[in-house]
Amino acid sequence: MEPLTRDWLSAIGEDPEREGLARTPHRVAKAWAYMTEGYGQTLAEVVGEGVFAAEGSEMVIVKDIEFYSMCEHHMLPFYGRAHVAYIPNKQILGLSKFARILDLYSRRLQVQERITTQVADAIEELLEPKGVAVLMEGIHLCMAMRGVQKQNSSTTTSAMRGLFRSDPRTRAEFMSAVQGTLRSR
Ligand SMILES: [Zn+2]
Repeated sequence: MEPLTRDWLSAIGEDPEREGLARTPHRVAKAWAYMTEGYGQTLAEVVGEGVFAAEGSEMVIVKDIEFYSMCEHHMLPFYGRAHVAYIPNKQILGLSKFARILDLYSRRLQVQERITTQVADAIEELLEPKGVAVLMEGIHLCMAMRGVQKQNSSTTTSAMRGLFRSDPRTRAEFMSAVQGTLRSR
């Protein structure tokens, strides 16, 4: 990453040797290693021992999980919040693991739609629940900083599985629980 970043600086018309940029290739390499850490991890690793036997079958909702990712079309950031819900069948997941799963799929080049689907798939695979819902809202800097320049627009994506898809009341309960929390920031 370091020699590539020096070439990149030259390509945009910068002088990679000037003082302010001297350590930039090193910092960029470190930052990108972190932001793309998801490539080197597996679902099993991030979940670890986080799956437990269920004691009930009430809907579990984890709201306002922050995510930061990089769009695969422009390699620019998009970020926002996700809400995840599921209805347990036989197993539940430790609450901190939802953020870990979101990071696993966010820390790589992505599109928001795919992260949403991957998080839903991961929870289905881990827990075989009666239903899963994932709702994500993101601000895409490739839209805000360039091109159409719609600074205030955000993109919402969702994945509904099982009861969240087949039962309108279950879906409505989830949507009303998370409504307003995304837009209010
Ligand atoms: Zn983009």
